[in-house]
Amino acid sequence: MATERVVYIDGEIVPESQGKISFRDQGFTHGDAVFDTTRTFGGRIFKLGGHLDRFYNSLKYMRIDPGMTKEKMADLTMQVLDTNKPLLGENDDYWVTQRVTRGVPGGPGEPSRHSVIIECTPLPFVARAKYYRDGLPVVTPSIRRTPPEAISPRAKVNNYINLVLAELEVKAQNPDAWPILLDVNGNIAEGPGSNLFLVKDGVISTPKEQYILAGISRQTAIDLAHELNIEIHEADIDLYDAYIADEVFVTSTSFCICAVSSINGSPVGDGGVPGPVTDRLQKAYSGLVGTDIVGQYLDSLE
Ligand code: PMP
Repeated sequence: MATERVVYIDGEIVPESQGKISFRDQGFTHGDAVFDTTRTFGGRIFKLGGHLDRFYNSLKYMRIDPGMTKEKMADLTMQVLDTNKPLLGENDDYWVTQRVTRGVPGGPGEPSRHSVIIECTPLPFVARAKYYRDGLPVVTPSIRRTPPEAISPRAKVNNYINLVLAELEVKAQNPDAWPILLDVNGNIAEGPGSNLFLVKDGVISTPKEQYILAGISRQTAIDLAHELNIEIHEADIDLYDAYIADEVFVTSTSFCICAVSSINGSPVGDGGVPGPVTDRLQKAYSGLVGTDIVGQYLDSLE
């Protein structure tokens, strides 16, 4: 039985240790590439179609032609996942990522040779389980989220330097803290891999799509709130709104829905997590995906 995961690179499915990308690839030299990541629940892939729609929108924004249809990308994704599935531990699941780089620049008049990569990474349940037990201590760094006038945050591009520096700043203060960036107007934007929601007097609000990556889990939470008849809307939210909120939670592919315990050291609500609205949404999310999203993390507590 295979002991190493496989990766799709440029027309071939090979063991990960044999996957190679040129050091001249602009994805490496300039962060000039596009990616998207979904996950599995009990080995079943989640909303692959929605992720690939966002992926192809990001590619169009970046003017990169992946050289294959969405259907082909979906097909290859399933081949890589199916090959890697036997290596999943019990109670484990994968992040499943597609990436297309601008590639190695061609000679004069020649197009560059882009690379397509599809891979699986085990989700970090052990490292993050404590956040499901204690809630996330959110800290807002001084670095602001890239404004749409510079690089649209709506596209999921490889260049994460803005978010990486923000995370380094926050983790230097508290290694457990979870960064959430403000935008250049001082409104709350998003974290390196997560969207934020507030609950006040039973009404949920979340930052507007123009200033953030529209998370697939964010949309899932919005759809579930509608199904549960909980009022929800997009709004400009600032730190004042966050400090006085009854509940705060983040959404992301890996976390699904995770409660926030504090914002810049100020406890959220009465300090208990999850609050009642977050709890209802987490239960609805678990029902939708057929996995107890909270239990899966808590089972990994060391
Ligand atoms: N914002 C950013 C910057 C992200 O990288 C991610 C992760 N893709 C998210 C938000 C959350 O998106 P999703 O729910 O699709 O994982």
